[in-house]
Amino acid sequence: MIVRARIVVTMDGPPIENGAVAISGNQIDDSPPGSSPSRAARLCRSAPAGSVVEVGKFDSIKKGNSGEVLDLGEQALLPGLINAHCHLDYTCLRGKIPPRKCFADWIRAINAEKAKLLPQDYVASINQGFAEAKRFGTTTIANLTAFPELISQIQAPIRTWWFAELIDVRSPKRANELVDLAVESLGRARPPGAPGGLAPHALFTASKDLYRCCDDVARRENILLTTHLAESREEMEMFRDGSGPLYDFMKVIGRDMKDCSGETPLALFVNSFGALGGRALPGEWIVAHLNELAESDFELLKDLTNKFHVVHSPRSHDYFGHSRFRFENLRALGFNICLGTDSLASNQSLSLFDEMRAFQCRERGTSPDKILEMVTVNAARALHQGNALGRIRAGFRADLIAIPCSGDGNIFEQIVAFDGPVDWMMVNGRRAAANLPQ
Ligand SMILES: [Zn+2]
Repeated sequence: MIVRARIVVTMDGPPIENGAVAISGNQIDDSPPGSSPSRAARLCRSAPAGSVVEVGKFDSIKKGNSGEVLDLGEQALLPGLINAHCHLDYTCLRGKIPPRKCFADWIRAINAEKAKLLPQDYVASINQGFAEAKRFGTTTIANLTAFPELISQIQAPIRTWWFAELIDVRSPKRANELVDLAVESLGRARPPGAPGGLAPHALFTASKDLYRCCDDVARRENILLTTHLAESREEMEMFRDGSGPLYDFMKVIGRDMKDCSGETPLALFVNSFGALGGRALPGEWIVAHLNELAESDFELLKDLTNKFHVVHSPRSHDYFGHSRFRFENLRALGFNICLGTDSLASNQSLSLFDEMRAFQCRERGTSPDKILEMVTVNAARALHQGNALGRIRAGFRADLIAIPCSGDGNIFEQIVAFDGPVDWMMVNGRRAAANLPQ
């Protein structure tokens, strides 16, 4: 089929006015006998279903192509958005936990809320989260779940990287067992073969053994890794100074506090698991947060040859009142920076448009096209999908969304300013939602 829109924002060159995208799939009609099919039609037949086979001006793609044409009218067609860090488990906790004075208190508060929930509540919460993310134009999500055993009960309606979130602070010496169980659960995801990964939660809740075990398995199984790092001032205080509310909280739980002896969280991570420790490839990690960095940390980051990916969650960051996210410094050092919503226990919606706007409010100097890259191109790269997702380009998966646009002004500015559910969406070549004609 061919999808035409007033403007096609490919993220792969300048936007195309009166643009169109040819998509493979069984909607493409065969050309009548004896006629010579267009290039797009020929390509459509040979391309895997759900991929983009041609992008360009509508007139040139339409010419001689007998495929179905869907004209979206006064819309901007763009790649589906990618949420690089989310916990759909906690969709049901929206508005339940007012901001706390300290991070340790917030952990206590979310633990108290979690204690009220049953497995079926989490399944409902995850399904509700998927529906909301999709409504706001998210076609791919990196979703951390603390309950990988529930994955098999959920049919994800969008492209999903399931990350099994692992914590062993209350049960040390079970690292291997926890990771084996998680990998088994990931294997039962629907549809079979859905991509997955491992997420040792954070340095203060996951042991070194657990990180190492995740790292070993990830390399063996070729799956992704993500973790929370340097999120709060209290995490910095705990590891660098050996004091503070988080230190006290974790000590009471029974955590071995020997590693809280002068190193920053970032230094601990890099030296233990990074290139400087001669062990893992930090480039394989997607690191959430990185809010609290010492100046010495920037020296370490500068020296990292294989840089990890960074996910910033602007609204969750503001909710907690973390230190300013050093976007420009990290970007200048060559880090690939993406956006994520984090969970609704510390955010109001799963809209990446809202997230882009929150980011824009803080980083006025960043152009809207660069902001859009953070939820398309950059996030695709973090998921090792830089050659399949995040752009509208021949050979890429047909994950597309459309939003209303006008002829006036910068199209990227209009996209970042968009506030509402998306009008039209396609995931893997299948039309998935919407207000416009299907
Ligand atoms: Zn998180």
